Amino acid sequence: MTEPMVRAEQVHKRFGRLAVLKGVSLTVMPGEVTCVIGPSGSGKSTFLRCVNHLEKIDAGRLSVDGQLVGYRQEGDKLYELREREVARNRAEIGMVFQHFNLFGHMTALQNVCAAPVQVLGIARQEAREHGIELLRRVGLEDKRDAYPSQLSGGQQQRVAIARALAMRPKLMLFDEPTSALDPELVGDVLAVMRGLAESGMTMIVVTHEMGFAREVADTVVFMDGGVIVEAGTPSELLANPREARTRDFLGKVL
Ligand code: ADP
Ligand code: MG
Repeated sequence: MTEPMVRAEQVHKRFGRLAVLKGVSLTVMPGEVTCVIGPSGSGKSTFLRCVNHLEKIDAGRLSVDGQLVGYRQEGDKLYELREREVARNRAEIGMVFQHFNLFGHMTALQNVCAAPVQVLGIARQEAREHGIELLRRVGLEDKRDAYPSQLSGGQQQRVAIARALAMRPKLMLFDEPTSALDPELVGDVLAVMRGLAESGMTMIVVTHEMGFAREVADTVVFMDGGVIVEAGTPSELLANPREARTRDFLGKVL
């Protein structure tokens, strides 16, 4: 049986007295694209941050590619992972944020090559060749020597995607990657993400782009109030939602 790439079982997360995730269960199989939709404050970013080792869960079980996030299991004992081990596991997951946070003093190509050289210890020349190939893949081969300030928001976001891919991740997480972009720049970024999905990448995408969710997602998940209210194929969830809360939300965004 194939191991899920992501398996969340009754994941709980609170910040002080605020319960943000209240039992989130979700399975993403290798090669699948899951889109997460839902109102602001429903816990979507927090969930991605838990998957990416940026937040510790308080209860439940969360694993990526068969390995518990943040812990190592021996028998029935759990040991917290050391920082180095966490960093190693994190390096296998790519994350793209709403704000791209490229290094302003580095060119596009340098941004893409930095982590593979510094974190993975890949030879500079090899990293450079892979970086050029990735910039080509996101449609920016002619921008390799441009600095972020010389690029549009959409181009910067595509560099950010190439930078994440440079680590050869087994899972890509996207947190509203097009929300900060001018409308005319959204399409190019979504096209890159669609290509990535078609290449077989496992992806979790938090997005308000319902067209993208409809066409690219295997599963669409509606989150509200720290729980998954409903999940299904795009045609089930977007066209025939069962839950009133899902219908309300879709009525506002579609
Ligand atoms: P979404 O991405 O769906 O908009 P978030 O996961 O960002 O939702 O946030 C869910 C809730 O958790 C919000 O009420 C937010 O204010 C709160 N929250 C998120 N991160 C923190 C934090 N580090 N400390 C305290 N509260 C937080
Ligand atoms: Mg968010």
